[in-house]
Amino acid sequence: MKNILNFTLEKLKDDLFATLGEKPYRAKQIFRWIYEKRVYDFDKMSDISLKTRDALKEHYFISLPTIFTKKVAKDGTVKILAEFEDGEKVESVIMRYRYGTAACISSQVGCNMNCAFCASGMLKKRRNLFTSEMVGQVLLLNKILEEENKGDRITHIVVMGTGEPFDNYENVVDFIYIMNEPFGLQIGARHITVSTCGLVPEIIKFSSLNLQVNLAISLHAPNDETRNMLMPINRAYPITALMDAINTYVQKTNRRLTFEYILIKNVNDSLKDAKQLADLLHGLNCYINLIPYNPIIEKPFERSEENSIKEFFEYLNKRHITCTIRKEFGSDIDAACGQLRAKVKE
Ligand code: SF4
Repeated sequence: MKNILNFTLEKLKDDLFATLGEKPYRAKQIFRWIYEKRVYDFDKMSDISLKTRDALKEHYFISLPTIFTKKVAKDGTVKILAEFEDGEKVESVIMRYRYGTAACISSQVGCNMNCAFCASGMLKKRRNLFTSEMVGQVLLLNKILEEENKGDRITHIVVMGTGEPFDNYENVVDFIYIMNEPFGLQIGARHITVSTCGLVPEIIKFSSLNLQVNLAISLHAPNDETRNMLMPINRAYPITALMDAINTYVQKTNRRLTFEYILIKNVNDSLKDAKQLADLLHGLNCYINLIPYNPIIEKPFERSEENSIKEFFEYLNKRHITCTIRKEFGSDIDAACGQLRAKVKE
């Protein structure tokens, strides 16, 4: 039995033909039922013959994760722990912006990248998520939105929850195709963001797909010394190798890159750091998201002082580097990545 949410439209066409001898239009029909009409039961797909529905049920199933915990913040942020069939759980978040409603979804159970500041990474990777489990998080969040406020739906996706998406490359790419499919959720590629801590071979591979999605690089330090301390992946792919891959990506896709930079007190938030960062990114078509650190008990780091954040931001502006200070979401509900899961585990 196969979970149908694992299939891109193209793969479903092939699989339906190989399994049931069905024509390609059947895959489009099923996609429309699931992703447009939000029907997750073959028996309710009324324009498919009874015989075909029975055949579908013999070989396929549709399974969404369930909600294990749900917290709603004063600013409307919703954070859930989604539970899968084997009992594993990951965090997914709904964030509301002026321009739409974004889902932040996880790509792995735990993470092996071991970033020093991260609550999610405290749990070592237990397994990759299947494509269906990433799709399932979005469908589940859409269900929550529908129940709360009819007509509201996820318009933007960020793959920035627990896990390193490029350490689960194939499944994440299929997930993007499903989100972007005109017969699916129709989420424009430019409304999808994938965030990586800097897996160089996968950044290069990703640039060849010619997808118009946004790529965000978790940089968090302007030099190897600080980055080695904060992000062990930097020892495998130091900043020069990362910048080479980034340049390849920009040349191939012509897309503007986003850099994520968490500001941590006395670690990476000095004016000297800002200058190094500006020098590093000089001339690159990019945008920096400055993120004041959200402290957690288990880690020794503190949030930068307000005046350091302001000075850092102003220095980058003076150097004509576009940046913003990221809005905090759901600070009253353990919204820092991995916090809710860590609490439930406790
Ligand atoms: S920041 Fe991202 S890549 Fe690093 S440990 Fe946390 S989840 Fe993994």
